[in-house]
Amino acid sequence: MRRKLAAGNWKMNGLVDDLAQIKALTDAHPAPDVDMLICAPATLIAQMAWARGPHPMQIGGQDCHAARSGAHTGDISAPMLRDAGASHVIVGHSERRADHGETDADVAAKATAANASGLIAVICIGETLAQREAGEALAVVTGQLRGSLPEGATAANTVVAYEPVWAIGTGKVPTTDQIAEIHGALRHALRDVMREAEAVRLLYGGSVKGANAAEIFAVADVDGALVGGASLTAEDFSPIVTALENA
Ligand code: PEP
Repeated sequence: MRRKLAAGNWKMNGLVDDLAQIKALTDAHPAPDVDMLICAPATLIAQMAWARGPHPMQIGGQDCHAARSGAHTGDISAPMLRDAGASHVIVGHSERRADHGETDADVAAKATAANASGLIAVICIGETLAQREAGEALAVVTGQLRGSLPEGATAANTVVAYEPVWAIGTGKVPTTDQIAEIHGALRHALRDVMREAEAVRLLYGGSVKGANAAEIFAVADVDGALVGGASLTAEDFSPIVTALENA
């Protein structure tokens, strides 16, 4: 059985005042039936860990450098995230791939660093609209998966998030058939490269809201969601957690 995961990505949002959302969220779900994770801006990780208190909600970073330390001004390493209280880190988000030119090889190196520091890597993959319209979505995402998975990936240290680039922050969501097709193909591709393929959690991400979450969570091989905009407030994220608990 794969334990379901409701993950939020705050991106470059959040000041200390916004930690009130964590209190509201943990109060709303004192004993969740699913894993909850918020990937915070690095500046808030330690304070979020404090704000969470004894609640099982987990905290993640949004990127890490492939090196443990060194002369990389402005970057943050996996040991630093771990030290601040993170248990997870997103790697290969499409915004990092686009804004910073990150390749699959870069993502695999970051995931390797994350795992070496005891962090669970949330590896993001997804096709652009042009790639989907060209009929390349399956080939693109399975290729990204193979290229981005680190050696030594296991079900315990890896989560995969399918996030079609055209669905992120746009309000556009693939049909449930399209999600099922991609998630089925990803599971199949995982079987080719990992013994624990059945146990790896596959998240869907892209404009998930309280209103569409139940429909998405009913799709085979969807083990949860990576949520951007709707993770910023407890009011928006809580119905998604509830929908996942009821899935
Ligand atoms: C994301 O950036 O990971 C994401 C899924 O964003 P949104 O939910 O806002 O589309």
